[in-house]
Amino acid sequence: MANTKDLMVGIDMGGTSVRALVVDSKNKILAVEKMPTNPGLPPDKLIGDLAGLVEDVVQSAGLQPAHLRAVSIGAPGAVDPIRGVVYHAPNLGWDKVPLGSKLGKLLRVPVFVENDVNVGVVGEHALGAGQGMQELVGIFVGTGIGGGILTNGRLYLGSRGAAAEIGHMILMVDGPRCGCGNRGCAEALASRTAMERDVRAAVKEGQKSIVPKLMKERGKERMTSSIIQRALKKHDPVMCKVMKRAQYYLGILVSSVVNFLDPECVVIGGGIAERLGEDFVAPIRQTAYECFLRRHDAQRVKVVPGILGDNAGPLGAVVLARQRLRDMR
Ligand SMILES: [Zn+2]
Repeated sequence: MANTKDLMVGIDMGGTSVRALVVDSKNKILAVEKMPTNPGLPPDKLIGDLAGLVEDVVQSAGLQPAHLRAVSIGAPGAVDPIRGVVYHAPNLGWDKVPLGSKLGKLLRVPVFVENDVNVGVVGEHALGAGQGMQELVGIFVGTGIGGGILTNGRLYLGSRGAAAEIGHMILMVDGPRCGCGNRGCAEALASRTAMERDVRAAVKEGQKSIVPKLMKERGKERMTSSIIQRALKKHDPVMCKVMKRAQYYLGILVSSVVNFLDPECVVIGGGIAERLGEDFVAPIRQTAYECFLRRHDAQRVKVVPGILGDNAGPLGAVVLARQRLRDMR
């Protein structure tokens, strides 16, 4: 039986699914469970489902909910981590939901709430590709593009806890419309959603691509990371072109962030980076290095793929909760 001391559950509420994992005192993963994100559910129903997910993952590890020390959630949107309130999460249809206290009442353990764009970078810093770094930026490419900044080894939150919205840096004035309402954000140019939009547009124009067939075969409505990987392996011309363009914009994004913040390392995380690894990151790095102001020692800034994949978020949530528990002592 696993060591039940300091057991924690970390949760990441992503755009398509909620992922929960339970870890021991050394942050070793004992079990993982997932459920689909159901936007439009009343908050209380979704919080009830979250409580069920926590119980499931703890049971999968052969443990009891009574063994839990705390639960920590990376939640989308504007979050107040001190009060555990999700103020505005358009993806969930939530407004001012006291997630921490409500879930805490159901589970009878402390529940911490963090911003989902920050937890992933904390995870990669503590346990993944950014270990040992003091100045680190994480850029997570998925349904959207999220990011986080660590300075002196601690999360930089900004004056309102709203820092590091790297995905909404505008790279193309008058570019494609972004979910945030602006135009030409990085997210509208290089997220998986943007890549899917571009592939669909090319197919509609009559260009040949195996992506629609792959989506149909696998019963997927969205162009998942695994479909992207498969299409690239088959040298699908549309997918290759769309990917190359996304990598170019991500390179420009990385260079702007590095010129602005001068970190030691930029970790590129998320599902695509996890699957494609160096194949995804190498062209991004090349473009970035070409646009660094300090080109002569560009290599001193590492640009690397994340290594934790979808576990970066929930693991980072746990790491932040442990920091908060220590700070509270
Ligand atoms: Zn935007």
